[in-house]
Amino acid sequence: MDDLLDLYLTNIIYSEIEETLRYVSARYPEYFTKKDTRDIISKLNVTISDISEERKEKLKDKTKNKIEIRKNRNNGLYTCRRKIDLPDEDRCVSRIWANGKISNINGKTIFGARCSKPRIDNSIGYCFMHYNNNPHMDFDQEPLLMIKNNYYKHNKQYRNKTVIKQ
Ligand SMILES: [Zn+2]
Repeated sequence: MDDLLDLYLTNIIYSEIEETLRYVSARYPEYFTKKDTRDIISKLNVTISDISEERKEKLKDKTKNKIEIRKNRNNGLYTCRRKIDLPDEDRCVSRIWANGKISNINGKTIFGARCSKPRIDNSIGYCFMHYNNNPHMDFDQEPLLMIKNNYYKHNKQYRNKTVIKQ
């Protein structure tokens, strides 16, 4: 664990201990005197003021960054881990948005992912939803420029890199 964070947490635990000791001493002064309390507390001499303001700010930033990283895991850059059981010939051929995912397989740019729902039947290549509405076209079709740009715009990794012109 980060040293500073460790210190911070330790300090919280120490304050709890300190409070408990004071309580015990107040409740049972004949068994646990104020001097006993002071002696132990003096050994737990880590205080929050030992951490400078600058370091506290850094700790805050670090925590914020970690939260940001976690958020970014949901932005479509990471592989979808959902298990797909259906064989390809029974699966809908539609492209799904997949959180704006753009991947590269053998030098080919793949937009979104293939729908994992079953086809209505063999003569219709789509699931119920995509039979009526197929906004991102078929998975094996080259998407329209407008669709591609939507992916690029949404995807942090590509947003500033790629500008596609008509
Ligand atoms: Zn579908």
